[in-house]
Amino acid sequence: MNKKITIAIDGYSSTGKSTIAKQLANQLGYVYVDSGAMYRAMTFFAMKNEFISKDHFDVTSLIENLDKAQLKFIYNPSIGFAEMYLNDENIEKAIRTLEVSNFVSQVAAISEVRKKLVTIQKEMGKNKGVVMDGRDIGTVVFTDAELKIFMTSSAETRAKRRFDELIEKGQEVSYDDVYTNVVDRDRVDTTRKDSPLVKADDAIEIDNSNLTKEEQFAIILKLVEEKLRDV
Ligand code: C5P
Repeated sequence: MNKKITIAIDGYSSTGKSTIAKQLANQLGYVYVDSGAMYRAMTFFAMKNEFISKDHFDVTSLIENLDKAQLKFIYNPSIGFAEMYLNDENIEKAIRTLEVSNFVSQVAAISEVRKKLVTIQKEMGKNKGVVMDGRDIGTVVFTDAELKIFMTSSAETRAKRRFDELIEKGQEVSYDDVYTNVVDRDRVDTTRKDSPLVKADDAIEIDNSNLTKEEQFAIILKLVEEKLRDV
């Protein structure tokens, strides 16, 4: 039982990937990596430097300045998971806004950005014992992950979840704007040229539209236990 595996969790926006990934990492004593936070951090970097705004995206300048963005996860024991830092600034809260969500899929479609982040992600997972969630973890980052999960649920369920989350965090957003963002991101993420969101052939699909968090956790934990018996 000492063997460690790699767990890749991919799927559409707001399917609850990070919740389940965190639960699994806690239960197994594994490292949890939120790869979406890294794409959000690069988006925050692009916004801060005015490479991207509502009607302009200076891709060349973003690419030329990629080296100036130093990303780091630092574990915060009071909340039990690692927070995202950009050049030593804690940006965990700043990257969760709807504004960042509205730009992130454009930034994530740039191959140079993906190359930089995938290199870091592979390094973080090289010793196994990692649960990483995102869009291309099972198809690009850890193609040999022992367990690949692909999460889905209806767009309405996902938008409602994300809306409730943002309201709980005190952000002023409308349900319609959140719904539009969820659908738009899925469209851009599934149709981009580089590493589009697609279910890996060997991933297990879980539709959690009608599952409680507890039911979902029980199903996935059973899959993990089966895999751990095999390794
Ligand atoms: O997971 P989260 O919703 O925070 O991800 C934000 C965005 O980052 C996604 O909509 C997608 O555009 C991008 N992303 C990606 N590849 C990943 C993780 C996230 O392209 N592995």
